Amino acid sequence: MQYGMYINENRCMGCFACVVACKDWHDVPAGPASWMRVKTIEKGKYPDLFVAFLPVTCNHCLHPACVAVCPVEAISKRPEDGIVTVDREACLGKDQCGLCLQACPYDAPQFGEEADARMQKCDWCLDRLTEGKKPICVISCPMQVIDIGPLDELRAQYGDVRETESFTYSEELAPSVLFKPKRDERNLAIGKIEVTPRVGTEG
Ligand code: SF4
Ligand code: SF4
Repeated sequence: MQYGMYINENRCMGCFACVVACKDWHDVPAGPASWMRVKTIEKGKYPDLFVAFLPVTCNHCLHPACVAVCPVEAISKRPEDGIVTVDREACLGKDQCGLCLQACPYDAPQFGEEADARMQKCDWCLDRLTEGKKPICVISCPMQVIDIGPLDELRAQYGDVRETESFTYSEELAPSVLFKPKRDERNLAIGKIEVTPRVGTEG
């Protein structure tokens, strides 16, 4: 079985409640490491504008590039639900390695500012899921943007749209994420695409 995530991009207002709730729940210190981030997409020029916000996190890919490149098998994909987890004790750290961040096209692996920072990332709140609860991002969002559950059930409920503005589906990795996309029907020129917090150690 594979768990998946559904995001209704039309409802996200960029309030960062999910980012803050995630950091708090998982005790991620202040700094650049953030398991949940929000992408801001700005297009066009006044008065023809398009703005969208997209929560982004690990997509728990069917064929995760991070698992394939890790030299010490610190990252693994759980057979029972397809969730990709990291053993931080085993990780060699960003300074010595960082191969997972280079391999992941979605910048999901996160590292703090400390020397020899070890990889951390979203595990779709495995602690909560095992207690039958939804992940903290799902319940903290005031706009009900996010849902997480078995991927086939999400597809049956929400459809099978795999791409949206500024998210490209990788056939090779097969990310487990579905969208109700916010479309720019006028195909305006890209103004700015920004992900907050930024991955790495730049703050
Ligand atoms: S999104 Fe990146 S870190 Fe997450 S499973 Fe896929 S390749 Fe690995
Ligand atoms: S940084 Fe850590 S988790 Fe990432 S590939 Fe290297 S050893 Fe594996």
